[in-house]
Amino acid sequence: MSKGTPSFGKRNKTTHIVCRRCGHRSYNVAKRRCAHCGYPDPRWRSYSWARKRKQRGK
Ligand SMILES: [Zn+2]
Repeated sequence: MSKGTPSFGKRNKTTHIVCRRCGHRSYNVAKRRCAHCGYPDPRWRSYSWARKRKQRGK
């Protein structure tokens, strides 16, 4: 079992579709939740570790 380029052809299952709220292709079909914004949660998914770079140097 390789996980390089040759095995990418087997990835034919749809796990994420376009999210109607954030527009990312992150809406998980099985879990019915967007991995990007957390839709259908009323509040947007946000984590401190996911913030943009360049806050607080380094
Ligand atoms: Zn979303």
